[in-house]
Amino acid sequence: MTEEHDLVGFCCEELEDAVSSDPTDALIEHDSGLILLNLGERTEDGETGVVLATIRFCPFCGTEIQTDEDVEAALGDVEIVE
Ligand SMILES: [Zn+2]
Repeated sequence: MTEEHDLVGFCCEELEDAVSSDPTDALIEHDSGLILLNLGERTEDGETGVVLATIRFCPFCGTEIQTDEDVEAALGDVEIVE
């Protein structure tokens, strides 16, 4: 069941339940395999974008789910608004 998620292994059921491919959810599994935290929409210069942040540790159990190297390797695919 988790075969598709070999880049990011889910450490616990809470995380697996919380992560979604729906971009409006709080935790998103990006196409790159990264798990991103959705900080909500922000409008700047008339354009509305979703602010995403990378997370390294599971917010539920504290397990490291992706390393800095994982994040950097995948970041080319992700638009991060700081
Ligand atoms: Zn966890």
